[in-house]
Amino acid sequence: MRAIVVDPDECLSPHWEMRRRDQVELVWHKPFEGVGRVRALAWTCDCRAVVYELLQAGGQAFIRKTTQAEPIPEVEETHRWPIEEARRVWHALLLGEMR
Ligand SMILES: [Zn+2]
Repeated sequence: MRAIVVDPDECLSPHWEMRRRDQVELVWHKPFEGVGRVRALAWTCDCRAVVYELLQAGGQAFIRKTTQAEPIPEVEETHRWPIEEARRVWHALLLGEMR
């Protein structure tokens, strides 16, 4: 797996890679309400207009996509996966293999 490069001077969080031609499309849903506690496992840098977060809820995890916009950011989420599966999707997303 390639290293995810972080610019130490500017940004503390990783950046997602640009879209690749053979990219797999993720299915995005409206946010699912009603989960009690959600814990952020990882997130991308908010210097980009689109921020992704890997979130854990109970024994499952999912990815939340926030498109920063005025007046209200657009929020979408994937469905839930087992945590290991969600981590695989997360890395693929950062590398531009999924979006
Ligand atoms: Zn950044």
